[in-house]
Amino acid sequence: MELPFAESYKIKMVETIRKSNREEREQWIREAKYNLFRLKSEQVFIDLLTDSGTGAMSDKQWAEMLLGDESYAGASSFYKLKEAVKDITGFDYFLPTHQGRAAENVLFSVLVKEENIVPGNSHFDTTKGHIEFRKAFAVDCTIDEAFDTTLLHPFKGNVDLGKLEEVLNKDCDKVPFIIVTITCNSSGGQPVSMENLRSVRKLADRYHKLIVFDSARFAENAYFIKIREKGYETKTIREIAREMFSYADAMTMSCKKDAIVNMGGFIGMRDPLLFEQASVFNIMFEGYITYGGLSGRDMNAIAIGLYEGTEFDYLETRVRQVEYLGNKLISYGIPLQLPVGGHGVFVDAKRFLSNLPKEQFQAQTLAVQLYLESGVRGVEIGALLADRDPVTRENRYPVLEFLRLAIPRRVYTNNHMDLVAASLKNIFDRRNDVTQGFKILKEANIMRHFTVELDLA
Ligand SMILES: *Cc1c(COP(=O)(O)O)cnc(C)c1O
Repeated sequence: MELPFAESYKIKMVETIRKSNREEREQWIREAKYNLFRLKSEQVFIDLLTDSGTGAMSDKQWAEMLLGDESYAGASSFYKLKEAVKDITGFDYFLPTHQGRAAENVLFSVLVKEENIVPGNSHFDTTKGHIEFRKAFAVDCTIDEAFDTTLLHPFKGNVDLGKLEEVLNKDCDKVPFIIVTITCNSSGGQPVSMENLRSVRKLADRYHKLIVFDSARFAENAYFIKIREKGYETKTIREIAREMFSYADAMTMSCKKDAIVNMGGFIGMRDPLLFEQASVFNIMFEGYITYGGLSGRDMNAIAIGLYEGTEFDYLETRVRQVEYLGNKLISYGIPLQLPVGGHGVFVDAKRFLSNLPKEQFQAQTLAVQLYLESGVRGVEIGALLADRDPVTRENRYPVLEFLRLAIPRRVYTNNHMDLVAASLKNIFDRRNDVTQGFKILKEANIMRHFTVELDLA
């Protein structure tokens, strides 16, 4: 008999979670103005809001927490992390920051000016926010295949070289750098191939442009390259990661993802001048350059997490759990972004709730339905997140409306995944009864999805 797949770790500590009943959830979600970000975590049974900072640290990471050096300047924890960053990514210069968007804030303070254009593959919301906040523009150059959820393509995160060259041709002087997000969160945790990274590098060189990697899930990207791209079958995850980063001039990192910690980030750079310029903003916004808003113990945990997150057995366990949930949903006929991504399942809400008009926020409606069904919290990656056009202030309706079910690392079992899948199936079976979506009562000027207040449409 062929042996089944099993996790590459066992559980040493547990946290109790509580089920609720439908009446409770109806009241709570009403009080939260139908925004799942506004719920209290105790009101949630299975929390798939995000895989960011929600992972379980290992015994080794916890052990390193006690060894943190909390010196203001020159802490050994800083040098421990600097060495790990150099070893895993190859970048000589590094600045710690308190999370990924802080890394963006510091680096973009140096690089992005008003009226600039930053092309990339489906910019993440905070990345886009930091670009638009500086009155610059993010231009999406993702391949068209990414926008057809039914299409099987191994690297839906790829940059369309034609679209990118068009931007470079037309507005070369306005482009400070190209950003490549690995894996591409917004298009469904979809990887970028090594071949594509290499080609983007060649194009950037021809136009003398910098490349920045938004690297939150670089290890999951490396895993997909290993299992899907010819020539990388026998390479280790770390070898692949080093080659990936060799095509970038700088990187921003949210350690809350593939470094499996609850808080942290950093910037990696090759150019000492860029490092010098970024250091000024790091000191202003984050903290001195050897701690950047992090405790010494946090930097220790990140250093260990960078190694654990780039182990093949860990990544296989992780990605296969996401795939397990995806395959269950596929077997129930539920439409989702194919193939299943690295950190979550992205349910195609447009096809799921095809009777609901987009003005009533299909993905948000589905997210609220799922919460009401069983206390499972997912998140909308759709029109609410897409926000308004900064110039016209019109609502932007993206091509894709996703309900994202992001799976925290090393946290839930496949029994939890079964419950999530069954909940969605129940809603799918009665999808034609879901006829009422939402309207906006109150929203912020930028990144409105975090705080928006809604009411039934
Ligand atoms: C999470 C994330 C960020 C921002 O990182 P935070 O740690 O949440 O500030 C940036 N880019 C991508 C692709 C991400 O997934």
